[in-house]
Amino acid sequence: MSADLALATDRLRSAAAALAWSTPASRDALDRQRDDRLRRLVAHAATRVPFYRDRYARHGADASQVRGVTDLERLPIVGKADLQSCDERDLLADGADPARLVERRTTGSTGQRLCIRRTWLEERTLGAYRWRALASFGARRRDRFAEVEEPLDAGSGDATGLHAWLQRAGLYRQQRLDALDEPEAILAALVAGQPDVLSGYAGVVARVAREALAQGETRVRPRLVALHSDTLTTQMRAAVTEAFATRVFALYDCNECNVVAWECPETGVFHTSDDTVIVEVLRPDGSAAAPGESGEVVLTSLHSFAMPFVRYRIGDVLVQGDPHCTCGSAFATIRAVQGRMFDYFPLADGRTIHPYELVNILGERAPWVAEYRLVQERRDLVRLSYCARESPTEAQLDHLGTGLRDFLGPAVALEVEAVDAFDSEGRAKTRVCRSRVASDYDGTDDASEGSR
Ligand SMILES: [Zn+2]
Repeated sequence: MSADLALATDRLRSAAAALAWSTPASRDALDRQRDDRLRRLVAHAATRVPFYRDRYARHGADASQVRGVTDLERLPIVGKADLQSCDERDLLADGADPARLVERRTTGSTGQRLCIRRTWLEERTLGAYRWRALASFGARRRDRFAEVEEPLDAGSGDATGLHAWLQRAGLYRQQRLDALDEPEAILAALVAGQPDVLSGYAGVVARVAREALAQGETRVRPRLVALHSDTLTTQMRAAVTEAFATRVFALYDCNECNVVAWECPETGVFHTSDDTVIVEVLRPDGSAAAPGESGEVVLTSLHSFAMPFVRYRIGDVLVQGDPHCTCGSAFATIRAVQGRMFDYFPLADGRTIHPYELVNILGERAPWVAEYRLVQERRDLVRLSYCARESPTEAQLDHLGTGLRDFLGPAVALEVEAVDAFDSEGRAKTRVCRSRVASDYDGTDDASEGSR
């Protein structure tokens, strides 16, 4: 069998496994599968993807030496800034046509934006593995789902027609709610939709839960709630559990790999999605963190070939877990997810805004921003710090400032400052959007508890 055919066969096999929500039979089987898939991925990246081809050549890294997961450390780690600074075409495999790929723009959860591209099959495969995690929480195929997140970009290239068809056929019942809507509106939509499974950004759903508690609204009774994207604190979990009288689970995900880990319903630690992603938790010197120790996350996505992520530093901090979960699952564990903290900004004019409102304006008006931080200093003052890819002109700065000021309104001042670089180590980087007025994350030691 040719290498191309073997690769295509493997991709179809993994898509089928994902759709069946199958889990590995044993750790040995899982390890063999990971080694095999990693070999194919690294060989592909090193020969077919200009970014990795150049980088490995420059670092003297020999991809053929990577026979399995234990050889991964032979390859250099890449950061978001490395990917941002090169031509987007160089991140794609030779022959991949960007016009035919699904696009996902990161919301800038680490303060750095990146456009991620996948084939339709890759997108569906990762999506199916996400459902597998929900199924482990107790979700069933016929459930009504409500998803509270940012709406997909128009023209993202994804086949929304398929979703519509599945919805009409009653095979897929999903209510999509805009995370940037007011909590009252989201709550009203949930009352109307009566979801069996509620999923969404942790910070947003927690705010909707507090709204439900304030209103005495008890008609939203999902069988389970799955929260993702932002770090889930003990207080947020308590509010959601009380408001919706149900079990709450955490899921750790990113745009690059979709689900990375999900909470074990029995033990409260997180299972890592070992058949879709290799999760490394590293100390500052690059060695592996021991169980209980926190470290920076480096991910290798085993199902992304159009735009590979191999030893990719995502910008999050995790607490390393044990290699086996006491529940008997074949998956390894992490103990906690630290540092995806987005504060709402309570403004002087009485509005409370999600910082993504500002992040979106930043994304639309300032593609020259490489990295940013937003800090609400007072109810009437927001500060934007940015690190530029290339120095903006006065007109560009003005265009950005006008957009942000129009949104913030006359009661809130905006200060904009350029910085050379942000602290790239440790937790400081994780507070990308921070309010000094009110924060769910104050006094939580910057960490979520995996266990309940
Ligand atoms: Zn477990």
